[in-house]
Amino acid sequence: MTSDLILTNGAVVTEDPARPGARAVAVRGDTIAAVGTDDDIVKLAGPKTRRIDLRGAMVVPGLIDAHGHVRSFGEELANLDLHGVASIEEVARRVRERDAVLPPGAWITGHGWDQNLWPGKKFPDHRPLTEAAPGRPVWLRRVDGHASWANRKAMEVAGVTRRTPEPSGGKIERDARGDPTGVFVDNAQDLVKKARPAPTREQIKEWLRLSLQRLAAGGLTEIHDASVDPEDVDAYRELADEGNLPLRVYLMWNGIGKALIEPLVERPIFVNYRNRLTLRAVKLMVDGAMGSRGAVFQEDYSDDKGNRGLFVTEPDELERRAELAMRKGYQVCTHAIGDRGIRLTIDAYEKALAAVKPTDPRPRIEHLQCVTPEDVARLKPLGIIASMQPSHATSDMYWAEDRVGPERGKGLYAWRWVLDSGVIIAAGSDFPVDPEKPLIGLHSAVTRQDLKNWPAGGWHPDQKMSFEEALRAYTRGAAYAAYEEDHKGRIAPGYWADLTVIGKDLREIPPEEIPNAGIDFTIVGGSVVYERR
Ligand SMILES: [Zn+2]
Repeated sequence: MTSDLILTNGAVVTEDPARPGARAVAVRGDTIAAVGTDDDIVKLAGPKTRRIDLRGAMVVPGLIDAHGHVRSFGEELANLDLHGVASIEEVARRVRERDAVLPPGAWITGHGWDQNLWPGKKFPDHRPLTEAAPGRPVWLRRVDGHASWANRKAMEVAGVTRRTPEPSGGKIERDARGDPTGVFVDNAQDLVKKARPAPTREQIKEWLRLSLQRLAAGGLTEIHDASVDPEDVDAYRELADEGNLPLRVYLMWNGIGKALIEPLVERPIFVNYRNRLTLRAVKLMVDGAMGSRGAVFQEDYSDDKGNRGLFVTEPDELERRAELAMRKGYQVCTHAIGDRGIRLTIDAYEKALAAVKPTDPRPRIEHLQCVTPEDVARLKPLGIIASMQPSHATSDMYWAEDRVGPERGKGLYAWRWVLDSGVIIAAGSDFPVDPEKPLIGLHSAVTRQDLKNWPAGGWHPDQKMSFEEALRAYTRGAAYAAYEEDHKGRIAPGYWADLTVIGKDLREIPPEEIPNAGIDFTIVGGSVVYERR
């Protein structure tokens, strides 16, 4: 039988121990038919076969982002982008600009601000936004998504006043008189967010489409969407039915908020629906993030005495949810960042696993950002997967150690400790928190430097990954984290024809050139879903 697609003249990294390297690949239907030399593969071409001459480009198993937020990324692509903005005045200027063109009553939404980039590094208050757009609500999310900034109109519409009580797992920033200043941390964001008009199904589908297109262009063949609501699942299924899902998506229920997770985990698991969509995981969240000092630590923040962070979900409730999800056959994926948040998550898993005794649970910890060596040693015996985001290290390294000090700082983004203990890393970016491009993540993983090659030698260089380890984390590691290791994460006959073609052989170029090596093709199930023009 002839092939539908052949790729020749490439540097193929297969992740298959039987044949680690090759020159060419043949695809039939949605699976890989053969891997070999150019001569082997050319023989499999017929008159209708599409032939791609790779001209030495690198082919790797289709890259996976094991932790991202597809809908919010799409929403942001359609929104005010404040990443890297260096002053409050510049934020206000952009809000004013948007205010001038939007229809009356429409919200101005945006994202990406970071007070650490501004003079004084203090949280802002509502006034600049209120002045810029007095007549409509303004709602701007912080870069890490763990705080948002409102103008007066947004607080008014949401009914937030001095008398609004502090929500659990969140904080309303207040002035000396007790009035909300306009910044809402963690769960407190819901107070304002819930006043926003709900998006329509078509709107959600448009966001997903926009997002997935961009992700395909970055070389990604699969995304683990780290928290979806029923309306998102419905939108995804419609896209799948229409044949409009370019990438595979592995969904995690949003089990984060106060709402019970019972109605979610009662819904049946589905796997590889329309060859694209799987729902068999639940996302839980124990603590916040380090940037907004919400991650939970055993000891005080080094730069904020008396503060040890905030539980998003109390430990007892976390354990209850983990156990319930496991009983229903769901995988549990818990956001845990501070050393105490991580410890309590491992405790919760330990108890839930003992109570349920599931056959193949593969519990995941999402982020695992500041960990102790004692807790790293507990991961492997419990079969816990570390879902980590290499570029978080290089985005946070400017201030992360201020938060935790030098001793705890040794366990920040401790990839080396994790890998050396035999634990599988599933790599991701947490887009839109960090850039979605896996080439940027691979660069962070092997250099622990930013895109300007700072600092020399890398930040805590003893925690670097090798290139092979980093690539594995974006391929086989992430595939394992989605129970897909028999279909994905390898270029071998019978595996899904999911391939990423990178412009240059990353093993042959200096690491600082990795981010700009370029993506030539993204192929999912034998279909070319992105092609460099
Ligand atoms: Zn996330």
